[in-house]
Amino acid sequence: MPLKSEEDRGWVLECENCGSERMLYVGYDISDFEKIYIFCSKCGRNTMHRIIGYKDGELSPLE
Ligand SMILES: [Zn+2]
Repeated sequence: MPLKSEEDRGWVLECENCGSERMLYVGYDISDFEKIYIFCSKCGRNTMHRIIGYKDGELSPLE
């Protein structure tokens, strides 16, 4: 099974404060979370992020 690069596979999150998107590379399923409190490099602090979907080469948006 070929390994994909990390940049191609992860959760796509959107900062609710500044609207910027970031990737979160975790192996577990976070789709049960409605929102996730995580560091935003643009805001320079932890902010609430909306989970947009899971990206595995292409983006699979959450319902
Ligand atoms: Zn932000």
